Amino acid sequence: MAYTTFLPPEFRVVIDKEACLQCGRCVQQCGWSVYTWDEAERRPRPDHSKCSACHRCVTFCPGSAITVKHNELAFKRSDSMSPDLIKAVWKQAETGGVLLTGMGNDKPYLRIFDHLLLDACQVTNPSIDPLREPMEMRTFLGRKPDSLEVSTSGSSLRGTSVSPAASARLLTELDRQLQLETPIMFGGMSYGSVSLNVHRALAMAAAELGTFMNTGEGGLHADLEPYQDHIIVQCASGRFGVDTSYLQAGAAVEIKIGQGAKPGIGGHLPGEKIDYQVSITRMIPQGTDALSPAPHHDIYSIEDLRQLIYALKEATGYKPVSVKIAAVHNVAAIASGVVRAGADIVYLDGFRGGTGASPTIIRDHVGLPIEIAVATVDQRLRDEGIRNRASIVAAGGIRSSADVVKAIALGADACAIGTVALVALGCHVCQKCHTGCCSWGICTQRPELTRRLDPEWGASQVVNLVRAWTHEIAEVLGALGVNAIESLRGSRERLRGLGLDQTVLDVLGVKAAGS
Ligand code: SF4
Ligand code: SF4
Repeated sequence: MAYTTFLPPEFRVVIDKEACLQCGRCVQQCGWSVYTWDEAERRPRPDHSKCSACHRCVTFCPGSAITVKHNELAFKRSDSMSPDLIKAVWKQAETGGVLLTGMGNDKPYLRIFDHLLLDACQVTNPSIDPLREPMEMRTFLGRKPDSLEVSTSGSSLRGTSVSPAASARLLTELDRQLQLETPIMFGGMSYGSVSLNVHRALAMAAAELGTFMNTGEGGLHADLEPYQDHIIVQCASGRFGVDTSYLQAGAAVEIKIGQGAKPGIGGHLPGEKIDYQVSITRMIPQGTDALSPAPHHDIYSIEDLRQLIYALKEATGYKPVSVKIAAVHNVAAIASGVVRAGADIVYLDGFRGGTGASPTIIRDHVGLPIEIAVATVDQRLRDEGIRNRASIVAAGGIRSSADVVKAIALGADACAIGTVALVALGCHVCQKCHTGCCSWGICTQRPELTRRLDPEWGASQVVNLVRAWTHEIAEVLGALGVNAIESLRGSRERLRGLGLDQTVLDVLGVKAAGS
């Protein structure tokens, strides 16, 4: 007897017949075509095997009639062969293919942020009320000088009210900086992987918040030109959409070496997602797969990287250059080389960072948590006396304002968010981004789906989220008795580890709670 499949549906779609208004909206809303309309019964019929649990139908059902449940099979208990492993074997036995997934690593590795606790002022060190006193959330990303030369000539105006400080003049010429009004920016997500309306929403939000969005590796659509002062343009191994005008359009350029969700491998955007607009933006043929190689074919050493960094600086009038690297085992040594190569910003991407598509084996088993990467890189750059030469951006696993504060206390200058920004736009983290069927109009190029995301509404969602986080960060700073976000950077003494072993604490440079 030949079986068609061993694979049971992952979810069960349950429709309450009493509550169903027979409107058919679920049939229209589902990007995965879970529902067909039964004309005879005038009811929707779900195909459970197609459901991704994106909850679009649940959200828009006017009768609140739909429930999506896990379809739990009662496997015999095994600590070795979990139900997920058994199903993965069945899938590969059927297809002979590499398992693909979207979004970030969801495996139960230690979540270090959740084992770090922040300090607060009591009695002898006064806290600050952020509602009554100024709290500086602005931060600058870029190379800082080794020392400052200040002219105080004309400052000793005896008998006048002009103080030396007021008349001082900075003589040192500073490198160009990115000015952020909040220590939160948006990580690279390429047009093609996400829809143009996602890019529009993030660009508008970045401009309103006084921060930056990042194009990812798919080029810059012409519609985003009004926001270019708040856009970092990315130059990745595929060089999609890269020419001089693109490089000059952004406030900064980012060289993407690696991505936290898939360190060491390139990217693959299937031809179905390369429509006309994506093809002209990426400068590639329509309908053909876009493959970005694992390495940059012109970078095999720190010296090669230096050449590209300075080529980009010269092409852009010395705008800041960021280098994005995945958090891997020797990330501190690599970051040191990146800084010595001339990068103004080191963007560290932890293994919980999102992706539009990745082999599951890479996403789930390669890389390091961002907490480890930030702490080790910050310490290494301090030990080598070059911490001032580059800013550190922490990304790949930033889920909340508390994570931002902890990442900065561990040594970051700012954080970048990706997945949570998409969640603010409606993403339900179903991890099926690679299918191109996203019902929320986020990770898809299908026009009937992308038009569901109104960029202005999306921008307001993201602005609200970042403003809320910024208020929360100010509250925490006040409790810590710190009045500027830059003063928190690398203040590991304000963190304590709870439930972390001594080895992890030593790597983080954090004391155990109670000590
Ligand atoms: S959207 Fe809800 S109310 Fe409308 S047909 Fe589907 S299940 Fe019924
Ligand atoms: S963006 Fe990806 S994870 Fe989010 S709802 Fe769409 S397909 Fe699912």
